[in-house]
Amino acid sequence: MSVTLASTLACAATTGGGVVPPAGGAPGGTVASHAPNTSTAGAAGIGDPDFPHDGNGGYDVRHYGLKLAYDPAAKHLNGVALIDATASQGLSRFNLDLSGLKVDTVKVDGTPARFSRSGTELTVSPETLIKDKAPFQVEVRYGGEPKPMRDSGNLGLYGFIPTADGAFVTCEPNGAKTWFPANDHPADKASFDFSITVPQGVTALANGEMTAKPQTADGKTTWTWREKHPMVTYLATMTLGKFDLREGKTASGIPNFAAVDPKYRASLDRVYRLSGEITDYWSTVFGPYPFSSTGGVVDDYAAGYALENQTKPIYGGFDPDQDIIAHELAHQWFGDSLSISRWKDLWLNEGFATYAEWLWSEHTGRGTVDSIFKRHYAAKSDPMWKYPPGKARADDLFNNSVYTRGAMTLQALRQRIGDEAFFRLLRTWADQHKYGNVTTDEFVTLAEKISGKQLDGLFDAWLYQPRRPESW
Ligand SMILES: [Zn+2]
Repeated sequence: MSVTLASTLACAATTGGGVVPPAGGAPGGTVASHAPNTSTAGAAGIGDPDFPHDGNGGYDVRHYGLKLAYDPAAKHLNGVALIDATASQGLSRFNLDLSGLKVDTVKVDGTPARFSRSGTELTVSPETLIKDKAPFQVEVRYGGEPKPMRDSGNLGLYGFIPTADGAFVTCEPNGAKTWFPANDHPADKASFDFSITVPQGVTALANGEMTAKPQTADGKTTWTWREKHPMVTYLATMTLGKFDLREGKTASGIPNFAAVDPKYRASLDRVYRLSGEITDYWSTVFGPYPFSSTGGVVDDYAAGYALENQTKPIYGGFDPDQDIIAHELAHQWFGDSLSISRWKDLWLNEGFATYAEWLWSEHTGRGTVDSIFKRHYAAKSDPMWKYPPGKARADDLFNNSVYTRGAMTLQALRQRIGDEAFFRLLRTWADQHKYGNVTTDEFVTLAEKISGKQLDGLFDAWLYQPRRPESW
């Protein structure tokens, strides 16, 4: 994620949105009886203390199969979600996250299940208990007018945002639930299949690669996409509209797909070329590209931000410059392939992607990383010194400190351990945790192991103290 217009930072943050956890659905288990229980209710939250209602407990999703149809004129979405999951406890009931929309039916392993709604929680009670470690499949048929969200920090609107010609879909931090039922938290990653039916002439863009040529019948076109690598829900997209497309491969052979709204037609070749060049360059710095395709999408919805949607970063209503493309493509390693387990650690995404912007600046013969670092360090009264970036706050998640001071942490680390250890650390980090979830503690441990240095003082000063470090 990167914010390009200061105005979006001024959006008021609201929290809660009337969310009420279902009775007995508190995180951490609900059973208080004396007899041993083998089956119980899955928690209504996945256990992130800063976002207690996000995600759910008791299971792990392996795959989402989403069959979607959207009519931009009527703003109506019809969906069938097939969710393959594995229980991590016995389950008498479990939750999914879903915001708005009407649920018609829910089945578990083909058998109709009872369900109820409360806030953004969809509680499903299967006919028979699901055993611990058992795989199960949930089918949810649903529909209605998707509505975007406006909360969780300084983001403005996010989620499924209807546009004149389709939809602009960017879901960080928790807006996937505006268009499909999900375990909507980055701690649960899954592969995705998308089948999206839209009026003929509308392009439907999703993550990964197309599995077949778009099929048109009766004035409607169906687009099918597959992201076979694990993906967090907030990186999923179904962006729809009129787009000019360019497809090919990067110089190193990675499939490259660019799409721009006709308003940005003049940018198509540049977005395509830069996305390819930068993906190839990061592959030499961070290690092999983790996914099967790269690219970028420019839509005319004036979001004022970009999001690193897996394999297809999206730029909302502006012509992206090389630095923002470098930022979003660095996220493919840091944020997308390696995902945070809790939002507090967001600097592991944004600090790294911001640091990548500085590396790109130096690589292209503009400002050096060192000069950029020193310029920020000299700004003694910058508000970021009061905001410890290692403790990203739910009510101000995308604070500049998480980005800039997060990136400065990496430069302070590099100066302490030297270039050889630093870049080996980045590549080892990206390789060891490929497609997984990570925490700051794991990064600190690896940095100490690779460098052979005691680094807790450095990380404490840069990540956790509400003041400007005295030195680096
Ligand atoms: Zn970012």
